[in-house]
Amino acid sequence: MDNLMQPFSLRVSEILDHAARYHPKRKIISRKVEGPIEETNWSSIHQKAKKLSKSLQRLGIKKGDRIGVMAWNTARHLELWYGIPGCGAVNHTLNPRLFAKQLTYIINHAEDKILMIDLDLLGILEKIMPTCETVEHVIVLTDNINMPKSDLPNLICYEELLETEDSDFDWISGHETEACGICYTSGTTGNPKGVVYTHRSNVLHALASASPDMINLSSRDRIMPVVPLFHANGWSIGYTAPLVGASMVMPGREMNPEGLYEMLEKGVTVTAAVPTIWLLLLNYLKANNLNLSTLKRVIIGGSSCPRAVIESFQNDFNVQVLHAWGMTEMSPLGTICSFKPEVLELTDEEKISVQETTGHPPFTVELKLTDDHGNQLKNDGKTQGKLWARGGAVVQQYLKTDKKAVDDEGWFDTGDVATIDKNGYMSITDRSKDIIKSGGEWISSIELENAAVGHPDVVEAAAIGVSHPKWDERPILVVVCKVGKKVEPEKITDFMSAFVAKWQIPDDIIFAKEIPHTATGKISKMALRQILEKENYQHPDLRP
Ligand code: ADP
Repeated sequence: MDNLMQPFSLRVSEILDHAARYHPKRKIISRKVEGPIEETNWSSIHQKAKKLSKSLQRLGIKKGDRIGVMAWNTARHLELWYGIPGCGAVNHTLNPRLFAKQLTYIINHAEDKILMIDLDLLGILEKIMPTCETVEHVIVLTDNINMPKSDLPNLICYEELLETEDSDFDWISGHETEACGICYTSGTTGNPKGVVYTHRSNVLHALASASPDMINLSSRDRIMPVVPLFHANGWSIGYTAPLVGASMVMPGREMNPEGLYEMLEKGVTVTAAVPTIWLLLLNYLKANNLNLSTLKRVIIGGSSCPRAVIESFQNDFNVQVLHAWGMTEMSPLGTICSFKPEVLELTDEEKISVQETTGHPPFTVELKLTDDHGNQLKNDGKTQGKLWARGGAVVQQYLKTDKKAVDDEGWFDTGDVATIDKNGYMSITDRSKDIIKSGGEWISSIELENAAVGHPDVVEAAAIGVSHPKWDERPILVVVCKVGKKVEPEKITDFMSAFVAKWQIPDDIIFAKEIPHTATGKISKMALRQILEKENYQHPDLRP
């Protein structure tokens, strides 16, 4: 009686086959790196992905070989998303904003055999190529006319390579737990660590992520991932969209508000990016008196979404915010803040407070909180603890390590501190290394930052803990004001006192022109601490 159903294989090629079979003409509108905006569809992407698989085989690629990809969000990148795993190879996403040393490290560590790279990023590769030990070919993602001049020998032109093949190719089959993609964590301390997604984890993750309480994606949607495909598995949108037959808009490399707005107005209904992108877009929309004519939902994650952003999207532009939490190690979706029936009963103001939390997990993800000794804590919305996760698309072991990344029961320590309320809504207090420990109490740097950016003249704020003889640590705040605006420090602390307890108010406000960011666009607390150290910064109480 057991095992009488068909052994459908959870491989990502099935996703693209489905889109090409049942949603072949769904539009993919894409800003090419070469400039113009083009239109294609799932059928054409399917054919080109097959041609790519065939071409890669001809170049000697075998099952399990790694291929590094450094590319913006374009239709062509979607061809790679399927053409690489389709021939059994592993798609290793490369973030062009990483330091050269880190790029070399991850290319060598993953042993990439081929690098596929966008036209405008070739300069990065020219610099590091002599240190890349395993790379046999470099493919430039363009056509013959746009092939650049380069010092690198034997560059292959992508479109030319594909022209020599037809699309008559059977995807390479294999077990669903075979490797499909690799994304390295950004490694703020130590070397980056390789997270290897399997075909199975990617399919399960896409199914979970599309579901109604998550991003609620369907064939009636047109989704634009602003989050780059190289950031945390591209938030899986490259899998979720074809899985439901959604249309897509790919914004290319123009990440400025003007360029994004132009693409959003091409019928986009759902979009996704980190909060900084949306802060800039909202300012642009308001300054130019523009509206969003088709957008319905915006997924905001990667770092905490300030209340002011939620309110502005919903009240000024009638766009629903889906605040999400995830990490590279979780493929990346951990939670999304959609409304359960319990929340629908609340007032509008209370609902916005719920949206400041990162929401609840989909099927396949399980979360728990513990104290430092591993004792499980209550989900009462108040008790803060270490956040642990396990599930169908959560890392078990990093690439080329001999130790598991989980405990004996399969729980992964996320490195975040959080609370979970009785309805299962999780709220990130902080990364455990960023939390400010003041007199035995914890202060959330995220809470301070979100309170400060609510001030109309503040663009960005970063809170960090500095040593204090009496309190162990005390918070200080680095603030970037809007261009041309000058604000008194007291005005900012006064404003913040409406949102945080008095004893949590930062002891010092430092104004800066900019705040350093990581390669994924988040505030780099490490770089900020280094800058303050270099300038011999001292807490006001310690100054002579
Ligand atoms: P990177 O730091 O390289 O961008 P990740 O995207 O994997 O890598 O970062 C995951 C971390 O980002 C989480 O562990 C958490 O600290 C933080 N994070 C993600 N989403 C949120 C959110 N909505 N609110 C607060 N923190 C978040």
